[in-house]
Amino acid sequence: MGLGHFGGGLAVARWLASQGAEVTVTDRAGAETLAPALAHLRDVPIARYHLGGHREADFRSLDLLVVNPAVKPGNPFVRLARKSGARITTELELLLERCPATVVGVTGSNGKSTTAAMIDAILRAQGRTSWLGGNLGGSLLDRLDAIRPGHCAVLEMSSFQLCRLGPAARMPHVAVVTSFAPNHLDWHGSLERYRSAKQRVLLGQSAGDFAVLNTYDAAVAAWAPLARAKLAALPSLDALPTLRLPGRHNRTNAACAAAAAAALGCSAEVIGRALGRFRGLPERQERVATIGGIELYDDSAATTPESTIAAIRSCRRPLWLLVGGHDKGLDYAALTATIARRCRGAAFYGAVAERLQAQTAAHRGALRCTAVETLDGALSWCWHRARPGDAIVLSPACSSHEQFRNYRHRSQVFRGLVDVLRKRYND
Ligand code: ADP
Repeated sequence: MGLGHFGGGLAVARWLASQGAEVTVTDRAGAETLAPALAHLRDVPIARYHLGGHREADFRSLDLLVVNPAVKPGNPFVRLARKSGARITTELELLLERCPATVVGVTGSNGKSTTAAMIDAILRAQGRTSWLGGNLGGSLLDRLDAIRPGHCAVLEMSSFQLCRLGPAARMPHVAVVTSFAPNHLDWHGSLERYRSAKQRVLLGQSAGDFAVLNTYDAAVAAWAPLARAKLAALPSLDALPTLRLPGRHNRTNAACAAAAAAALGCSAEVIGRALGRFRGLPERQERVATIGGIELYDDSAATTPESTIAAIRSCRRPLWLLVGGHDKGLDYAALTATIARRCRGAAFYGAVAERLQAQTAAHRGALRCTAVETLDGALSWCWHRARPGDAIVLSPACSSHEQFRNYRHRSQVFRGLVDVLRKRYND
């Protein structure tokens, strides 16, 4: 249920078919929208596709329902399947049940992908075999044949996935919580439910496991009494090597990665070396061009106010910010205050634009800001005002799905627009 674009649904469909299951793929989106994903299933024996909407009959006669993390709690089709006696599960739960490797689970409101990639890099530098799964590495379900005991599987775990794990789900040997701030409240319904989903990972561990809590984040530090596993201590931020990644937030990510790797037996020397070499991930504070002395950064993966605040705080140049997208109903007061205090200018776009523009303009200061419809409009507004030595940063603070398929699509569109600027400038 829910094929999606990102690969989790694809992998599970492919894997179930390879196990001899009779697979129905159903999605609210139609075949045209899902065309790129469907192309990957061309050679897979899927019994039937019911796209462009779900059919009740499918949910009455099934043994197993694999739900995409995007499907909201309380969905009537999921209820119907449960009432009909089906087991409800997710790609992550199927993987956790079968993965023979030592599992490291990384969760948190921000910093999951970066921290997971850091842990993976340290393990490899230590000579271990590490598999990276989740948003970045894709599903490990269809790699299960190659994964062995003694390997490590580093999995990013979203609140949506954690929320759907059954009471008996196997939890990671090392659980990492990078940060906590309100997010996805429209999905979870309340802050308490979102927090409980994240805490689920700690409650399911046992005494022989390790919990790594980002104790530099007061909200996460307060969860220590919940841990059933040994708490792994974080190194002091000063003890870490110089990182290639900017900002204090990345130093706390690195501290979490170091503690997780140490719990897995990596040496301090290897941890320091691997962190010092770590280059960061695309679409996260990534410099994509310097045109006429103006640096342009793609931080499309910033989908929360805190991640955009982190980008603003770590930028050393006079900053022009592009912010906008779908309004998740979060509190943007800290963000707009930070923008007003620290940015030279901000262009807000999309559904959230008017609201952010009004909030920011209420803070008096030297800042110039505008509300426009599209990312294109926001970029040209900043481009015409920025001076050599300035930076223009796309760090949207919002999810993308109003104008883009996902944050990667948003990043591609941004890079396309930057290419056009470069060509025009060079002509
Ligand atoms: P996630 O996987 O949780 O979305 P990522 O590592 O992909 O996190 O980073 C997403 C965005 O959040 C990027 O803009 C990044 O710069 C920012 N970010 C990374 N780590 C943190 C952190 N610890 N606190 C706040 N923002 C962060």
